[in-house]
Amino acid sequence: MDQDRLIASLLAAVPHPMLVVGDDARIAWLNAPARAILGDADGRHYLTVIRQPEPVALLERVLAGGEGGTTRWRLTGPGRDTVYRGLVARVAGLGASLAFQDVSDVEHAADMRRDFVANVSHELRTPLTALLGFIETLRGAARDDPAARARFLGIMEREALRMNRLVGDLLSLSRVEAEERVRPRTQVELAGLARSVLATLRGMADAAQVTLTLDAEADLPPVAGDLDQLTQVLHNLVENAVKYGGSGKTVRVVLRRVAHDPVLRSPGLSLSVIDQGAGIDAIHLPRLTERFYRVDTHRSREQGGTGLGLAIVKHIINRHRGRLKISSEKGKGSVFEVVLPLI
Ligand code: ADP
Repeated sequence: MDQDRLIASLLAAVPHPMLVVGDDARIAWLNAPARAILGDADGRHYLTVIRQPEPVALLERVLAGGEGGTTRWRLTGPGRDTVYRGLVARVAGLGASLAFQDVSDVEHAADMRRDFVANVSHELRTPLTALLGFIETLRGAARDDPAARARFLGIMEREALRMNRLVGDLLSLSRVEAEERVRPRTQVELAGLARSVLATLRGMADAAQVTLTLDAEADLPPVAGDLDQLTQVLHNLVENAVKYGGSGKTVRVVLRRVAHDPVLRSPGLSLSVIDQGAGIDAIHLPRLTERFYRVDTHRSREQGGTGLGLAIVKHIINRHRGRLKISSEKGKGSVFEVVLPLI
């Protein structure tokens, strides 16, 4: 076999884009994945094909007899950037090879992880700082003041409960994520579940002077689901509706059958939580289920929110192959509708 075919067949066996630049600085070989990105670059000067300074500098160095190495570069695109990691090596007697790989997903996941850890640390630090401050005060200025002591202990309890809720939500989120690919098997009857969630939240609703109502179609079939998780979905949605719905108002839970859901492409059960609150501006709707995303951070904190409730809801619904639709009108209220497939 001649050298040309040997090198071409070796390159064809590499799953990533790869090319060889000859000592004359022209592209001598490239495999199909490289061609898909760079076009028909055979025989062209490498500088007319590869324009990013990082790989170019490395190729230049290797073609001049220097050491190879790894590099990374970024291509800004209309959507998000593409990040490549590449390896340039000397090919004895021929020139230099460049193999590269799209690592955008890996980098994106790393960015998300970093942001998440930073957010969690920040969220935990706020109540922790308050607790440390009050411990200091209780040891000092408020030591012999029973009234101040009682008040500060009350605040400390609230802050500790907030941390506890945050840790609880973080654990829920990681449990739900771990199970996201496992389909739930048990049969859940949603009307009964809704009655018990509303009973649990009645005390909170009474305190906020919110009326809770349930309107369930008769004889609804059960859905394949995880009872605890679906309870959490409804609990989080109704709790939000009470928190953000405003006192003196009504929160309605409506359960009905859907003959054909156009997105799920199957029959389904629809569960809507409808409030009469201030509503949510449309620009926030697409981001509402992101972790720690809040329309009004101050209001959420005041209400004891963790910013994770809707992220948990979204993951649970994904696991159930269902969908969440949020619609809202400023000044009129919001509707959080969950549709679960009935198959
Ligand atoms: P939080 O713990 O802050 O309530 P969630 O993830 O449950 O976190 O909700 C995220 C944000 O979405 C809330 O901070 C709030 O701004 C907004 N939100 C959620 N439900 C409603 C609702 N029914 N009406 C208005 N805003 C809502």
